[in-house]
Amino acid sequence: MSDSDSIKEKWKKYRNPGYQDKFDYSWGMVIDLDRCTGCEACVTACQAENNLPIVGEEGFRSGREIKWIRIERYWDGEYPDIKLRFIPMLCQHCDNAPCEPVCPVYATYHNQDGLNVQVYNRCIGTRSCAAYCPYDARSFNWFSFTWDKPLDEQLNPDVTVREKGVMEKCTFCIQRIRQAKDTAKDQNRRVRDGEVQPACVQSCPTQALVFGDRNDPDSAVSKLAQNPRGYQVLKELNTNPSIIYLKNL
Ligand code: SF4
Repeated sequence: MSDSDSIKEKWKKYRNPGYQDKFDYSWGMVIDLDRCTGCEACVTACQAENNLPIVGEEGFRSGREIKWIRIERYWDGEYPDIKLRFIPMLCQHCDNAPCEPVCPVYATYHNQDGLNVQVYNRCIGTRSCAAYCPYDARSFNWFSFTWDKPLDEQLNPDVTVREKGVMEKCTFCIQRIRQAKDTAKDQNRRVRDGEVQPACVQSCPTQALVFGDRNDPDSAVSKLAQNPRGYQVLKELNTNPSIIYLKNL
């Protein structure tokens, strides 16, 4: 068996049968917890790239914060032999996403790249998807936020500004994926490994986050996912996340 075939075989433990054939691309991420220092550069980059509003102290206290990626902090061990651990947590783009079947208007669904996407102008704000997401990866817009001049200049024109009553979450920076796919299509080729990077991946100073096509056995993400430290968060729920974490040992 060639290296590529063996990687394809090993991916099967993370995938639904037939998924590799069903989708052209299948985007995924590997997060190496041994590298994450909890600096939150990824959080800031995500905020800037995707027009996430700053809700302020009062909004945060009322639980109205909007975040697509957060850094969870855990203490491991007993004092004095205690270690601080970080886990970046974002939408896991599950192959069996529990948020999808509960949306009464199909505002969240699986697209042709195996991504769990959210159609903002279809969302009616029932928040059922957030209730069913075991990763707490979704945020609800309780207000229509505005950016006073000149702060509106910082808004990314490639990304919608969401309004009150709409649910939102990580898209793996789908605007960047679209751009890379369009360029590749114009040049009659597939998107190259590393050509598209979500904002969090691009900004991580320790390269703890790696993004790529799970259907390409030679991509960095496919190779890293074979690491024996690899695991999926809450795998026992059979959600089949597209994000593989590498354990912090
Ligand atoms: S930018 Fe990288 S190192 Fe910093 S918190 Fe995010 S994943 Fe961890």
